[in-house]
Amino acid sequence: MSNSNNTSLVKELIQVIGENHVLTDDDRTTPFLIEQRSLFESKCLAVIQPGNNREVSECVRLVGAHGTSIVPIGGNTGLCGGAVSHANQIVLSTARLNQIREVDKINNSITVEAGCILSNVQNTAAEHQRLFPLSLGAEGSCQIGGNLSTNAGGINVLHYGNTRDLCLGIEAVLPNGSIFSDLGALRKDNTGYSLKHLLIGAEGTLGIITAATLKLFPEPKESVTALVALPSVQAVIQLYNQIRELSSDRVTTFELIPQIAIELTARHFPEHPAPFDQAYPWQVLVTLHSTGLDADFSEQFSNFLATAFEQNLICDALIAQNVSQARHFLALREKLVTAQRFEGVSISHDISVPISRIPELIARCSAIVEKIAPGARPYPFGHVGDGNIHYNICQPENADGEAFLAKRAALNEGVLDIVDKLGGSFSAEHGIGILKRDLIPRYKGEVALKLMHSIKQAIDPDNIMNPGKVLAD
Ligand SMILES: Cc1cc2nc3c(=O)[nH]c(=O)nc-3n(C[C@H](O)[C@H](O)[C@H](O)COP(=O)(O)OP(=O)(O)OC[C@H]3O[C@@H](n4cnc5c(N)ncnc54)[C@H](O)[C@@H]3O)c2cc1C
Repeated sequence: MSNSNNTSLVKELIQVIGENHVLTDDDRTTPFLIEQRSLFESKCLAVIQPGNNREVSECVRLVGAHGTSIVPIGGNTGLCGGAVSHANQIVLSTARLNQIREVDKINNSITVEAGCILSNVQNTAAEHQRLFPLSLGAEGSCQIGGNLSTNAGGINVLHYGNTRDLCLGIEAVLPNGSIFSDLGALRKDNTGYSLKHLLIGAEGTLGIITAATLKLFPEPKESVTALVALPSVQAVIQLYNQIRELSSDRVTTFELIPQIAIELTARHFPEHPAPFDQAYPWQVLVTLHSTGLDADFSEQFSNFLATAFEQNLICDALIAQNVSQARHFLALREKLVTAQRFEGVSISHDISVPISRIPELIARCSAIVEKIAPGARPYPFGHVGDGNIHYNICQPENADGEAFLAKRAALNEGVLDIVDKLGGSFSAEHGIGILKRDLIPRYKGEVALKLMHSIKQAIDPDNIMNPGKVLAD
């Protein structure tokens, strides 16, 4: 794109949304160009911050007319390079689309604009004695538009579903500038193709989500959180099924924590010492919610753990005695991600398999890691109750990080081929972005890839929306 075309596009954008909302200075654009994992470099022509859906629509039309393209950005916490941009692109930030439009307690729904920060939506729901259950480590900065566009998961998927399951309706600006509005809070609507589901998980390649109607739930009357130590992954899966049965399926969180994560978290965050006075191979963080009708809920759970201990299914357990201790357990789960970074470089995989295959997945992946990169440290953690493991691998201790990273392609192939053979997915909850784009033909197949290209071509024939993400150009 020529310099004069660039200059006139910026001028026209300023006419639509005002000078203050078209950022071109480095100090104002830089925060939108940082990539979480430092894997990709970003540049842009300008960052624009429209204030409502009509302004978004007008900006999209202008960008299309000038023959360039748009990269939508929310909280910029995505982990696959989905919001990375290049020098001729316009980055559209949804930060000013931050109104809560409506809370409907009777319908148990909330309508929010795309730029609302996830924790603000949770808090607004709580002020109305309702629960918005989406919860993840980045909840203080990620935005609802980003959550929907990546179909984010998090720690409560087990009971409440992922973002897709929590969405009743969507409003979005399409590549031709038209506004698609389907914000009705209906739980039943069988009127043909579900267009909202095309936009969810599309990572900004089919349109810009400007608002959504989301499901709310009654606040749990009581909850109990425990850290449980176990001897094997088989025991973890057995425990999971027993707790689901015991609780009539009210397990909301069931997160796997390996011993290495306990050790590294204690090493790098002394305020989070090892919870047990002995080292055990695995721990799980469990949370159960009660409806309030079962008075002896906590006691039943405690008795269940005592029996599991007597039967040698578990090695030890700590039940949180109050909210602050429960938060402490949760913080341990969150901190383990950062603790790993202090140990040098790592290679990560966000994978899922049927839950019954998890023991085999972990055993086979550990064996292949040892074969390809002897001494590298497998660091599998996460949402085991959903079959979703973050199978990270830390570099060997005190070794050359670059030499380890040189084995990335072989490690990726080794791990992902195992996942594929076990009927799993190479991207459970983080999406595709640029990072995993080239894996689609190998693991999703040619038919799925062709269908995806056809959908992109039908909705965005000029490739204006986030080109090169999810699908190669
Ligand atoms: C510490 C940490 C913990 C995390 N934990 C989890 C977890 O447990 N589960 C999980 O699923 N993810 C997790 N993530 C990843 C990330 O937080 C989520 O993917 C989140 O949903 C991204 O939201 P965002 O607003 O930051 O989106 P961004 O990073 O800004 O964008 C992500 C993608 O969505 C597109 N996009 C953003 N807004 C819009 C819009 N309005 N319309 C169209 N496209 C849009 C972007 O172009 C990009 O492709 C974590 C990240 C961090 C840093």
